[in-house]
Amino acid sequence: MDTPSDEASMIEYQKVGKTYRSRRGEIVALTDISFDIRPREFVTVIGQSGCGKSTLLKMTAGVVKPTSGTIKVAGHRIQEPVSELGMVFQTPILLEWRTVIDNVLLPLEIMKVKDRASVAKAQELLELVGLAGFENSYPSELSGGMQQRVSISRALIIDPPLLLMDEPFGALDALTRDEMSAELLRVWNQTQKTILFVTHSIDEAVLLSDRVVVLTPRPGRIGLIVDINLPRPRTIDVRYDPEFIEYTHLLRNTILGES
Ligand code: ADP
Ligand code: MG
Repeated sequence: MDTPSDEASMIEYQKVGKTYRSRRGEIVALTDISFDIRPREFVTVIGQSGCGKSTLLKMTAGVVKPTSGTIKVAGHRIQEPVSELGMVFQTPILLEWRTVIDNVLLPLEIMKVKDRASVAKAQELLELVGLAGFENSYPSELSGGMQQRVSISRALIIDPPLLLMDEPFGALDALTRDEMSAELLRVWNQTQKTILFVTHSIDEAVLLSDRVVVLTPRPGRIGLIVDINLPRPRTIDVRYDPEFIEYTHLLRNTILGES
């Protein structure tokens, strides 16, 4: 999977819907989702708990099948799990008995493509996320924020053009969260990845994104798509800009107005 040309789309959602069927009946999780994500774009999906954010990410990764519509990633219709993309979840899911660097190398081992250059690459990625010197530590010796940095390095080790992040900072305290946001902006800037990010933090969405997609609950539909025209590079101080505050008001009103 390669990053498509600038004119093409990295991800295309065409009338995507998902209905879960369980013994207790049907749950319409998402309906009529249509939008495109450009290469190297940072797009955030925001919405209340249960509005289908994780479902959208899982369908994009091919681990959950849509019940209607199609999803294309880099021009290819997604019909089975995609191995060449990076996933980061709310919990870092590290192997406790493996060192930091061995956790980062794991995807390459699983894909049987680990070679002599891999260790240097892993080291480089740990440096990129500010973890130089912790290569041989164990996950239990790291803070929550540091563990999440390891999981970001692990997602990047296969050099995926697309990174899917599902509330990656949701379990962290507010200050660590700020630090991680700044870090992610730096990583995104340096690696030129397309990022599809999920959060329920309005501030985080405005701070990070080129565009924010608001999902409305039950069933999840697109309520609004907002271009965030704040200059880059951004630091967390952009929060005090009147324009930033206007964006947060608009998003808050949309999210609350629809519930
Ligand atoms: P979010 O990530 O926005 O909190 P989810 O995508 O996890 O939302 O869930 C959307 C809706 O689909 C919720 O009502 C949830 O209960 C339901 N749902 C999610 N996964 C399943 C599943 N495997 N089986 C049945 N219902 C599910
Ligand atoms: Mg979720």
